[in-house]
Amino acid sequence: MFSLYVHIPFCRERCPYCDFFLITRPGFVERFFEALAIETVSKASLFAGRAIDAIHFGGGTPSLVPVSFIAGWLEQVAGLAGLSTETEVTLEANPEDLDPATLNALRAAGVNRLSIGVQSFTNRKLRALGRAHSAGDAVRTVSQALERFPSVSIDLICGAAGESAGEWEEELRTAIRLRPQHVSIYMLTLEEKTRLWRDVGKGLCELPGEEQQASMYRQAMTMLTGAGYGHYEVSNYALEGHHSRYNLSSWRREEYLGFGPSAHSFLHTAEGEERFSNASNLHRYLADPSGAVDFREVLSGAQRFDEEVFLSLRIRKGLAVEFLRKGHTLGLDLLDERLARLQAKGWIAIDNGVVTLTGEGFLFADLVAGELLSE
Ligand code: SF4
Repeated sequence: MFSLYVHIPFCRERCPYCDFFLITRPGFVERFFEALAIETVSKASLFAGRAIDAIHFGGGTPSLVPVSFIAGWLEQVAGLAGLSTETEVTLEANPEDLDPATLNALRAAGVNRLSIGVQSFTNRKLRALGRAHSAGDAVRTVSQALERFPSVSIDLICGAAGESAGEWEEELRTAIRLRPQHVSIYMLTLEEKTRLWRDVGKGLCELPGEEQQASMYRQAMTMLTGAGYGHYEVSNYALEGHHSRYNLSSWRREEYLGFGPSAHSFLHTAEGEERFSNASNLHRYLADPSGAVDFREVLSGAQRFDEEVFLSLRIRKGLAVEFLRKGHTLGLDLLDERLARLQAKGWIAIDNGVVTLTGEGFLFADLVAGELLSE
């Protein structure tokens, strides 16, 4: 698998809980796409002639930019590499940007999977999350997208200020009734230096506690799997054949090439497995779209091992015990002791020599990985 990722760093406003790299001045859109075209040419040797399995427009808010820019970049890529009708082309979108004409234009441009930032189906919670759309916008947009796109994903957040279990259950019911092919469930996390972090620090609002959040996560797991969605990653559920190929390939440590400010890349080069990140600064990116990087590193053996442990546990594929025994630095006794402890807690299962997280273990994925990483 080989994928391309484009980071489109524009949003109308910063949501109070978000710490992504983005800017809220749309005046730079045209210059951004000029820079993107230059970066694409400069990286052509890294992907030209290769079959591209997935393209992902993330952000920021890719639906905020005119569709003609998206179409133009896809044409540029199609002129350099192998795109086919099988290539998954996903665009992240917010409901307030999507009317039927825009949806039609995105589909005509080659987008075949829409990932809609619904976040909530209740107006009270949408206001608490600082989102611009209403619950009605969300339902209407998802329905209209489902009529036009072969695959639609929605994001939902649980654990917003003032959220009750009953409200969350009702939102899950709405999601299941609409029946998008893919649902991502995120627990609201408090990122440092965000507006939400400051408000919580000042006592202006209070988020549900860990146990309440965990029970919302379990509720989502029960209802979505009960409705036929496969739980294929910690936060992700899909109907058969509708998992995100782009995300799944990055969790499987397959290659991807990132474009745009702050975009990461992971490539198998002559030196080994290489990760690098474009500059997280729009002005540096615009000044030097092909050269401004924040970091570049060839992974050491220990880094490769830790990544494999961390990422494989997140997905159903799991981790071979043999791989752990060969690569860890804990000592075999300690490794076995930790595996037995995690199994006794009900967080992992070991079948046919493969460690996988249980449903309950998905809640503690980071803790489990932390127990098994090299030291
Ligand atoms: S729309 Fe998405 S990327 Fe933009 S500020 Fe809100 S959460 Fe962050």
